[in-house]
Amino acid sequence: MTETVSRPAGAQQVPLPLDVEAIRADFPILSRTVRDGRRLVYLDSGATSQKPRSVLDAERDFYENHNAAPHRGAHQLAEEATGLYEAARAKVAAFIGAPEREVVFTRNSTESINLVAYALSNAATAKEPEFRRYAVGQGDEIVVTEMEHHANLLPWQQLCERTGATLRWLGLTDDGRLDLSDLDTVVNERTKLVAVTQQSNILGTINPLGGIIARAHEVGALVLVDGAQSVPHQPVDVTTLGADFLVFSGHKMLGPTGVGVLWGRYEVLDALPPFLTGGSMIEVVRMEASTFMPPPQRFEAGVPMTAQVIGLGAAVEYLERLGMDKVLAHEEALTEYALAQLQAIPGVTVIGPPDTVARGGAISFTVEGIHPHDVGQVLDDLGVEVRVGHHCAWPVVRRYGVPATTRATFYVHTGYDDVDALVDAVREAQRFFGVAPAVTEGGAS
Ligand code: PLP
Repeated sequence: MTETVSRPAGAQQVPLPLDVEAIRADFPILSRTVRDGRRLVYLDSGATSQKPRSVLDAERDFYENHNAAPHRGAHQLAEEATGLYEAARAKVAAFIGAPEREVVFTRNSTESINLVAYALSNAATAKEPEFRRYAVGQGDEIVVTEMEHHANLLPWQQLCERTGATLRWLGLTDDGRLDLSDLDTVVNERTKLVAVTQQSNILGTINPLGGIIARAHEVGALVLVDGAQSVPHQPVDVTTLGADFLVFSGHKMLGPTGVGVLWGRYEVLDALPPFLTGGSMIEVVRMEASTFMPPPQRFEAGVPMTAQVIGLGAAVEYLERLGMDKVLAHEEALTEYALAQLQAIPGVTVIGPPDTVARGGAISFTVEGIHPHDVGQVLDDLGVEVRVGHHCAWPVVRRYGVPATTRATFYVHTGYDDVDALVDAVREAQRFFGVAPAVTEGGAS
């Protein structure tokens, strides 16, 4: 893009807390080009994040030097693999302020949520009385919100279908926030569990969890917090969060794909039957019946994704070196800048909170006269990689009456130049489709 566009008055480049150039040098993929030599402007970390060299090195080192199945076998490699696997658990646990025994490794957030949902329905028929405490059945209610990712909606719909429980939900306000006006009605004595996202993947909204968790506990319900979009982007400490479960995915926080986390309060985890059964989660196995290990092993059946867990440990170390407070402040500055610029473009509508109050760095928008997929196509041609579609949160786009949105998400390597590239590309899309306003901000047309 050769045209120089002046930036709107509200778009100020305050100094960014993170050293973007130094961080970019840690990510091998960011040095490649796309679309005939263009700089890669990666604004899709909300879907999956790129990986720093230290994460790639940790996985490679495991396979090259220590590869064995952890928690099985007594040989040296097995001992080393077990040590590295458990050391990663300790790092992840410390990252969220939890004891190690409360951290269960899964494949991703989706599996973590399914684990809880299946454990709650398995509880109803568990032969062990101690596993029936949280059983969900007919007459019970599960509460979600209208802004949940499908991963935090469908497992609960399915749980209700399996058990005869009823699904209820909190709606949304026009400006992209949770409508809590009927919280005390929706969350009531019949509620068994409330599942809510901490940060919306599509709207960017950061939810006020304190009141929701307090109400849920008041009526004796469990609370599962979907941290897939919050744990990578802000400090999250389970001791202050106050929930019963927290789920997140390694691949969205600089770690590998194939590893996720279920954190659960020990007392609750300990009262749940397993979801998957098999090797390494058992105490005694007989042909007639078997008994299970305590958490977290009870929920980690089979040889685990060891290299990925170790890679996640390296990702956590990387984020801790940067400091999660700085990561949050970095994204807040970028979000403020991006919102000011995008909202200054006539025809662009931000779907979600229009300001930076309780809002993270996921910005969804529509461009009048251009389908979001076409916006994405033009952006991609210019090297700007964003996500388009319903973002696995179909009820949200339906709620706001749009077929889909274009979504930009930021992370530690994102700089103002990335946001400028996005904004310039949106203007270019308007020109390409002949919907550019006659006079735009700063005089560019
Ligand atoms: N929850 C939220 C808010 C998400 O954004 C996502 C993924 O985008 C998920 C859950 C599911 O994550 P995963 O696909 O890693 O299981």
